[in-house]
Amino acid sequence: MPRIGSKEKIRRFLLANIGRVIESHEIQKAAGGAVQYSRRLRELREQDGWPILSHNDNTDLKPGQYLLKEKPKKKTNIVFKRNMSTKLRAEALDRNGFTCQMCGLTPGDMDPYTGRKVRLHIGHIKDKSLGGKDELSNLRTLCSTCNQGAKNITTEKPSTIWLLSQIRRAGQDEQREVFSWLKKKFESNK
Ligand SMILES: [Zn+2]
Repeated sequence: MPRIGSKEKIRRFLLANIGRVIESHEIQKAAGGAVQYSRRLRELREQDGWPILSHNDNTDLKPGQYLLKEKPKKKTNIVFKRNMSTKLRAEALDRNGFTCQMCGLTPGDMDPYTGRKVRLHIGHIKDKSLGGKDELSNLRTLCSTCNQGAKNITTEKPSTIWLLSQIRRAGQDEQREVFSWLKKKFESNK
């Protein structure tokens, strides 16, 4: 592995091209041909909170085109507990799919409850004061609002039949958004 990873190369390339629509092959080239460039882009969006637009956000963009509109803020959208190892945090985030385990929102989403961008926290399921350990099985990601117990949502996962019924009664635009989200999720994991 070279000293500069593909993510850092993409980061630098995007910073040098703020405001210009970039084609995916340019990003791949900038990443030294790394085929995982879409995963790296997703990390920049979801872990680092970079405002990278794609055709999913902006109808002017075609699939495979990306746009970094402005210089990303230094602040990340993910809040880490002190004294937790980077590896453990990354594992918890990855396992929970960068998603709040209570309400299902993800960094970059607007929280309808606060009207602000979602921030994720990594918290203990069983509190440390009650003997909970710093280990993967005791960690989960929660958004700020759920972390404060402000949303009245159960930790039980929604059932398939319930999810499908909600999607069926949603509008076409919402259904399309669900479709493109699922497509993106499963294609980038290939
Ligand atoms: Zn939440």
